Amino acid sequence: MTDQRRKVLLVDDSPLNITILGEALAKDYEIAVATNGADALVMAAGPRPPDLILLDIIMPGMDGMEVCAALKADPLTSDVPVIFITAMTTEEDETRGLAAGAVDYITKPFSIPIVKARVRTHVELKAQRDLLRELSTIDGLTGIANRRRLDEFCAREWKRAQRAGAPLSVVMADIDHFKAYNDTYGHAAGDDCLRAVAQALGRAVQRPTDLVARYGGEEFAAVLPDTDAQGARHIAEAMRQAVADLALEHTASSVAAHVTISAGTATAVAASGATLEGLFAAADERLYAAKQQGRNRVEAGPGAD
Ligand code: GH3
Ligand code: MG
Ligand code: MG
Repeated sequence: MTDQRRKVLLVDDSPLNITILGEALAKDYEIAVATNGADALVMAAGPRPPDLILLDIIMPGMDGMEVCAALKADPLTSDVPVIFITAMTTEEDETRGLAAGAVDYITKPFSIPIVKARVRTHVELKAQRDLLRELSTIDGLTGIANRRRLDEFCAREWKRAQRAGAPLSVVMADIDHFKAYNDTYGHAAGDDCLRAVAQALGRAVQRPTDLVARYGGEEFAAVLPDTDAQGARHIAEAMRQAVADLALEHTASSVAAHVTISAGTATAVAASGATLEGLFAAADERLYAAKQQGRNRVEAGPGAD
């Protein structure tokens, strides 16, 4: 089971400090550990970024100030709060730390209750910011991610995939004969149908790092990081099946007696000169092909067989 707790990344070259901080925080947070700055940057930009970073300043290699500046300069990590925890205790040190973008500054030797209290405060603030952002990026009708969230998510994941040399897949899905559904059952029933389909699609897409969004009208998109063409076909088929399983009557459909979707998939390795626009265009073309070939089916990208 994945850990649903908020995640704190501890960065310190001293194993003893890591142990003490880890023990203090492990009950309330998922803990990740890095013992140098370079590892910390990689972990912070990873698929499940931390909600807070406790950062030592004096470390061999990159020091904490440099790490903090790099975190703040990178759009993938700039919104993760950083607390310095350091033996550098002068007013000047603290001023530099805060100027580097840290939200707080704790001096060693530290008091465990104070560390806990400050961590809690900043993790809560981060959670509130996340919630506000989520609320402004939810589609009002269906309750899933809206187009804005999709665009933000894709930009981030594309960047991440480029760095990792990992594949990124997209599924475009569209309800079959939905105009006829509205004409037969009315617009309000059409809205209910959209809600039910959105929920079913959300259930079909299972990894916490995946995103299902309403692309517009009766069209949906799933973005699947680190997923190859075969995986994308598998998920698209699960999405198609999940909607069929709703068994929502649709007597005006020429495809089935119930509501169905068609879907197209595309996969790209971002590092290979492909573009995000090209990826969506390819998925859209295959969606169109799935419609042409009779609907209620998945047209998967090359490499999916
Ligand atoms: P196809 O199988 O080729 O996709 O046919 P279709 O009828 O589903 O496609 P078309 O694009 O012709 O029609 C889409 C319909 O979706 C028309 C529009 O009224 C309906 N629609 C779009 N957004 C909403 C919405 O928010 N609520 C409701 N009830 N209907 C919507
Ligand atoms: Mg349609
Ligand atoms: Mg459509």
